[in-house]
Parts: sequence; C-alpha cells; structure tokens
Amino acid sequence: MSSKKGFTTTILHSDRLLKPEHGALHQPIHTAVTWGFDDVQGLVDVFQNKTKGYAYSRQGNPTVTALEHKVTQMEHGMASIGFSTGMAAISAMITALIKGGDHIIASSYLFGNSRSIMQTYMDMGIDIDFVDATSVDNIKAAYKATTLMVFVETIANPATQVADLEAIGEFCNEKGLIYVVDNTMTSPYLFQPVKVKASLIINSLTKYIGGHANALGGSITDTGLFDWTAYPNIAPILRESIKPAMQGMSQIRKRGLRDAGGTLAPEAAHSLSVGAETLALRLDRACSNAVALARFLENHPLVDKVYYPGLESHPQHELATKLFSRYGGLMSFALKESVDLFAFLNRLHLVIKSSNLGDTRTLAIPVAHTIFFELGAARRAEMGIPDSMIRLSVGIEDTDDLISDFTQALA
Ligand SMILES: *Cc1c(COP(=O)(O)O)cnc(C)c1O
Repeated sequence: MSSKKGFTTTILHSDRLLKPEHGALHQPIHTAVTWGFDDVQGLVDVFQNKTKGYAYSRQGNPTVTALEHKVTQMEHGMASIGFSTGMAAISAMITALIKGGDHIIASSYLFGNSRSIMQTYMDMGIDIDFVDATSVDNIKAAYKATTLMVFVETIANPATQVADLEAIGEFCNEKGLIYVVDNTMTSPYLFQPVKVKASLIINSLTKYIGGHANALGGSITDTGLFDWTAYPNIAPILRESIKPAMQGMSQIRKRGLRDAGGTLAPEAAHSLSVGAETLALRLDRACSNAVALARFLENHPLVDKVYYPGLESHPQHELATKLFSRYGGLMSFALKESVDLFAFLNRLHLVIKSSNLGDTRTLAIPVAHTIFFELGAARRAEMGIPDSMIRLSVGIEDTDDLISDFTQALA
C-alpha cells in the first residue's frame, strides 16, 4: 500500500497494516525490556539474525519498530533505526562506521551540537574537514584518499544556507562515499534525500516529525543506494552473516545502538508516531505562515535582513525551489541597530522565547546570546551571524495572529 498511496494516508494506516492485536489502530506501547522463548532455538535464531524477533529492548522493541517502519515509508528508504535523540543517531552512525584516521567532509553550517560532537571525534583521531556545502566544488576540493563520508544538512540553522544536495550526491556516488543527509529541517514531507542519492538519512524526530515538543527521538534511514560490500569498516562477522544490503544498518544497530545504548523509549516512540500522522498538515501550515512572516519582516523598516529560502533575495532561492516542495518553517532575521533586541523579544506576547524548533507553537531565540554563544564573537562574525539575529521556528497559529504580534512588538 505504501508505494501507491499519498504521504499522509500511508502514515495513518501504517500501524494497522502491521496487524496489532485485537485490530488495534495503533501499535501498542510495549514496555517489556526482555522477551522469553518456549524453545531455546528461538532465542538463538534471534541472536544469530536468522529470524526477526526481540531479545532485549536496548536493540529493538515492537513499538519502536512501528515508528522505524513509518520513517522508512516517509523517506522511501530500505530500513530505519530509531534512537533516543537526533544526536544519539548521529553519534551512533559515526561510532559504528568510522575509525581513527578516516576522513569525513562535513558542512561548516552544521547544527551546533553536531558541530560540537565532530570536534570530539576529531580529538579521538578522526580527520574531519568543514566546508561551505552550498557548492559541491568545496566538497571536491576537500576530498582525499582517506575520505569515507560526506555529512550535510538540507537547510542550515540559523542562517538557512541550502546545501548543493544534488551535485554532492553525484560526487559521492562517483567516489563511493557514504552520503549522509540530515533531513531534520525539511523533514521527509518537504524533501526526500533518496532523490539526490543519499546513502543514509538522519532525522531528529523531536522536531517536525514528532512536532509537539513532547518527546525526544532520532532516526537513521538507509536508502539502499550505498554498496556496503566495498566499505572497508564492516566487521568480518557481519560480512559473513548478513546480506550485503543490510550490512551497514546491521553494524549501526549493533555497534551504534546496542553497544552505545542511545535507545528510543517505547512511550516516546508512541508519541512520535502519533505526531507523524499530522506532519504534512502541520508543516503545510507552518510553511504558509513562514512565507507570510518572511514577507512581512522583509518589508518592515526596523528589520535589517531576513534569512529564508522562500524569499527571492535568498542566495540559494533557486536551488531550494528546485529541491524542496516548500521552504520550511525555520527563518531568521536581524533587527536594525536602533532596536533593542531583548526589549523587542519581551514585547512578543504570542511568540514564545524558547530554543526548540519544529514545534506547533512559534518560538523565537536570540542566536548570538544562546545557541551560538559558545562559538565566540570571532567565529560568529566568520559565519555571518549578526548579534541582532533572531531565529524563528514558525508554528501553526493563525497567520493574522502572528503578524499582529510582530506588528505590535515592532511598533
Ligand atoms: C535538533 C537537531 C538535531 C539533534 O536532534 P535532537 O533530537 O535534539 O538530539 C540534529 N540535527 C538537526 C539539524 C537538528 O535541528
């Protein structure tokens, strides 16, 4: 059914088609940590990957499986693994697939915590170069014999640079590199990285997919496009016992999830699954609100600059139009120097001062003082982050109410 039906229909009926007991329409929340077997052979077969089943919830749980199945369907992928957070997914992927001395090319506009953990991996002996991913030429220039992976995001946070996703996909394919696309900002509703030949897709389920800021989660999806048989870091035991297409995911599930332990809780998986049912509806509304707000702010005399890929003035507007079905719910703007940043933010009544994104509610945060504070003034200047920059995660409120709130706060 999934391949023929639309995005929302597929997700709404996903659990039901897995046939939960009693005809339940949701996969139940399985809180069991462990599973028992009448015949020991059953336990052995699960351990040896000969049959599908569950042994211990750290590496697999039916409630989490149902969500993994939804993510795979949304991404048109081959298989997915759920994690406790988006960061757990990213760190599990690197832990499972990369060794000291291997080289990764990453976007220089990565999400702050992703950038920070890359530094930790560099301290552990992994070689990482950060390049401006808005042009594939910078990826090509950083490529060397030891390069194994390229890691980019779709739309960067907070300045909304759009990566040269299609051309990078071509290059990775030509060189046999694992192409990782963090799709959090667009979500599989606005963009499916499999279309640009991504190998692995990261989603922070905490953001748009869960959508209500009531559960943390992350995922890795294998698109099925990468040839794991040629990858140097697959463990010999997996080479022998797992079919080639699943070797990457199997290694991530074992070394990244089972061993590192960033397991998604079944209660959270359930909340995220329910949230996923309305992803398309919420994001359509957030995108419409974002376009309206971006235009309003761009035309306001007290606003210096608006960063939103949906505006014609955005440097990658054409690229974003070609790649994504809409321009997303994240934007930033900088106020004119004459406006007191904190006083302005405190005058917003409806818009909440908060650091999350992808929520149903509109959230605003002063970037230089919070999420980019640790970088210091020099790095911020290098990255083009003005002190007066405000990041907005646009929610699903009624458009007029949002515009009114900004109108009065700027008056
Ligand atoms: C939030 C975010 C993450 C991390 O996700 P968590 O669920 O908060 O751990 C990773 N990548 C991007 C682009 C994000 O916005």
